[in-house]
Amino acid sequence: MLAVRGNNVPLEPADPRLLGVVILLLVLLGALLLRQRRRVRQQLDLLAEREERLKMALWATGEHYWEYDVRTERIRVLQIDPNGQADVMRERTVPTATLLHPDDHDAAARSMRACLDGTTRSIVAEVRILLDGDAPVWIRARGRVVARDTAGNPTRVAGTARDISRSHQAERERRIAALVLRSMDEAVSVVDEDFNFTSVNPAFSRITGYQAEEVIGHSAAMLDSDQHDHAFYRHVRQQSAAHGHWKGEMWQRRKDGEEFLCHLVCNAVTTGDTGQKQYVTVLSDVTQQKRAEQELLYLANFDTLTNLPNRSMLSERLSRAIVSARRHGGRIALLFLDLDRFKDINDSLGHAAGDRILRAAAKRLQQTVGEHHTVARLGGDEFTVVLEDLESPAHAERSAREIIMAFEAPLQLDSRQEISISPSIGISLYPDHGQVPTELIKRADTAMYQAKAAGRRTFMLYDDAMDVATRKRATLSGALHKVLDRGELRLAFQPRMALSDSRITGVEALLRWSSDEYGEIPPADFIPLAEESGLILEIGEWVLREACLMRSRWQRHGVDPRLSVSINVSALQLLRGNFPEVVQRILEDTGLAPGLLELELTESVLMANAAHTAARLHAFRDIGVPLAIDDFGTGYSSLAYLKRLPFTSLKIDKAFIDDVASDPEDAAITSTIITMAHSLGLNVIAEGVETGAQVQFLSRHGCDEIQGFWLAPPMDAHACLAFIRNWQPPSALYPPPATATGP
Ligand code: C2E
Ligand code: MG
Ligand code: MG
Repeated sequence: MLAVRGNNVPLEPADPRLLGVVILLLVLLGALLLRQRRRVRQQLDLLAEREERLKMALWATGEHYWEYDVRTERIRVLQIDPNGQADVMRERTVPTATLLHPDDHDAAARSMRACLDGTTRSIVAEVRILLDGDAPVWIRARGRVVARDTAGNPTRVAGTARDISRSHQAERERRIAALVLRSMDEAVSVVDEDFNFTSVNPAFSRITGYQAEEVIGHSAAMLDSDQHDHAFYRHVRQQSAAHGHWKGEMWQRRKDGEEFLCHLVCNAVTTGDTGQKQYVTVLSDVTQQKRAEQELLYLANFDTLTNLPNRSMLSERLSRAIVSARRHGGRIALLFLDLDRFKDINDSLGHAAGDRILRAAAKRLQQTVGEHHTVARLGGDEFTVVLEDLESPAHAERSAREIIMAFEAPLQLDSRQEISISPSIGISLYPDHGQVPTELIKRADTAMYQAKAAGRRTFMLYDDAMDVATRKRATLSGALHKVLDRGELRLAFQPRMALSDSRITGVEALLRWSSDEYGEIPPADFIPLAEESGLILEIGEWVLREACLMRSRWQRHGVDPRLSVSINVSALQLLRGNFPEVVQRILEDTGLAPGLLELELTESVLMANAAHTAARLHAFRDIGVPLAIDDFGTGYSSLAYLKRLPFTSLKIDKAFIDDVASDPEDAAITSTIITMAHSLGLNVIAEGVETGAQVQFLSRHGCDEIQGFWLAPPMDAHACLAFIRNWQPPSALYPPPATATGP
C-alpha cells in the first residue's frame, strides 16, 4: 500500500485501482524506454558496422569516399591509406575549388553539372587533386546524386575516387613507347617462341618492304638471304633462345629480293601475364653505311681515276715487300715514272682528255709489268712500279726499257682519238739506295728528274751524285721565285744578218740571270725550272715588255726602222692564259708596231698540242706578229705539218750548222731544209754560225739570214745598239768574224 505524506496532512488511503493503473503505466513506459534504447543501440551498432564495412571496403579497394554538398560547394573526403591500418580513416571537408587542380576545374564542373541536371545518371571524371600540398594526384571519381530536397533538387552527390596516378603514368609511357616504336628508323619486330612474327613497326615495313599483315604469323626465316647458309641463321636463333640475346651483323632479303646488310639486336622477353617467351628484334639497315665505309677505305688507299693503289697503299705494299726482302735477302726495284710534257697536253686538250690519258697510261703500265707487280699512281702524271724478287739491277733496267717501248704505240683515248706520250723513268733499289719506302720513292724521283734532264723518254738508275744535282735544282728553284723582285734578270741581244745584202735584220732577246748568290746561271738551267713552277708566265711577260721597250727606245737612236726583235716563247705561255691579248696589250703600251716583234717557238712547243697551238698561232697572225720556228730539226715535226701553220721564218738548229762545212750528211740536210722551207715561203735563218766556211756554205745554198758568234755574240742592250749603229757590211763574206764583244 502506498501513502502520500506531507504537511502533516494525513493522506487519504489511495484508490488501489488508480495505483494499479499508474504502476501499469510506469511499467509500460519503462518497457517502451528500454525498447527505444535497445533500438537506438541497435541502430548505432548497425551504423558502426556499416562504417566499419565502408572502411574495410575503402581499405580493400584503395578507393576514397567523397561527398559533395551542392549548397556549400564543399567536398567531404574520407580517406584510408590502403597500405596503413584498415580502421584509421582521415576525414576532411574542403572547398571543391581548392581540392581540384586548376587545370581540371572546368572538366570537373562540366561533369558535375551534367549529373546535377540529370543529363547523366552518374559522374565519371579523371582529374587531378591536390592533397596536403603534395604533387597533384590523378584520380578517377565516380558518383551520383544521393539526396534531394523536398522539391526534388539534388542536395548531395556522393561516390568514390581511386588514385590512378600509376596506371595513368603507365598508360602515358605505353603511349610514348608506341609513338617511339612507330617513329623509329629501326625495324622493330616481335616474334614468338617459334620465331614467327607477332608484330612489327612501320620502319620494318619500310626497310623490308613487307606490310605487317604479310608477315604476322609467318616465320622470321622469310627474310633470310643467300649471303649466309641456313646454319648461320639457325645458329643465331639458337643463341637467342639459349642466352636470351644476340647481336651482330647479318644479311637479310627484302620483299623485292634485294639483299641488305643489317645490324641486328635480338632480346628475349617474357610476358608477365602469360609467362610466354617472345623476342624483340631491332634491325637497322647498315648497307649504305658499310658502303660509305668501304668507299672511304677505298678512297684512302686507291686512286679513283685509275683505280690503282695510291701513295699510302704504295707505302704499305712497299713496306711489306721490304720486310719480306729483308727476311730472304732479296732485292726490290722502285720505278718512278712521269709522263713527258703531260702538263702541256693537259692544259691544251683539257682535263677530260687528260684524265683519259692517265687512265690509258695506267692500263698500259699495268699490262706491261703484269698484274703481280704493284703499279700505283702518286698523283698528277706520276706512277710507280714495285718490282719484287729482283734478280739484278739489270732486271729493273730491262723492265724500264720495256715500259718505254710499250709507250711507243699511241694510247687509245676513245674510238677516234689517240695520243703519243712517252715516260721518263727513275729507278731506285732496295737495299742499295734506301731502307724505307719514303727513301726509295725520293731517290727514284731524283733519278726520274735526271732522266727528264737527259732528254726524256728514257730511264736512269739512281746514284748518289744525283742528289747533289737535285739539291742544286731545289736551291735554284727557290732563288728563282725572288728573281723578278730582286731585279736579277736582264736581256742580252744577239743580232742577225741577211746574207743577200749584209743588213742587220733583227736581234734576238735572250734572257740572262745573274744571281747574287749563284752567279751567272745559263738559261738552259733555269728556264726548265721556271716552266715547271709556272714562273715562266710572269718572267716571259717581263721579257716581252722589256724587249719591246728596248726596241722602241732604239727607234729614237735611228736604227733601221725594219729591224725586228725576236723573243722566245715557252709552251706554257702559249697554252695558258690569254697570250695573244697579253702581246697586243704590251705592243700598245710600248708603241711598237706588231710587225717588228717576232715570236720564236721551238718544235716541242708546237707539238705539245698541235690543234690548240694552231688556233693560237693564227691569232698572232691576225694581230700581225711574225712567227718563227726555232731550233728546227731537233724535234719530230715535218715540214708538211708546219705548212699548215702561219709561220714566216724557220731557224735551222745549231746542231746541223756546226758540221755543215765538214759533214756531207749535215750539209745535205741543211740544204734540203733551206729548199723545202723556201718552197713553203719561209724565210730561213741559220743559228749558231761560228765560221766563215759555214757562212759561205749557207750563202751558196740560198740561206736568207745568219745568227751566231761569227756575226756577234749576245750583248747587253747598250753594246748591241752600238754594234748595230756602227755596223759596216763587210765588202765580202771573207774575212770574218766580226769584232764585237759579248756582255
Ligand atoms: P735559242 O733560242 O736557240 O737561242 C740561241 C742560243 O744559242 C742562245 O743561247 C745563244 O747565246 C746561243 N748562240 C748564239 N750564237 C751562237 C754561236 O755561234 N755558238 C754557240 N755555241 N752558241 C750560240 P742561250 O742564250 O744560252 O739560250 C739558250 C736557250 O734558252 C735559247 O735557245 C732559248 O731556247 C732559251 N731562252 C733564252 N731566253 C729565253 C726567254 O726569254 N724565254 C724563253 N722561253 N726561252 C729563252
Ligand atoms: Mg731562239
Ligand atoms: Mg734556237
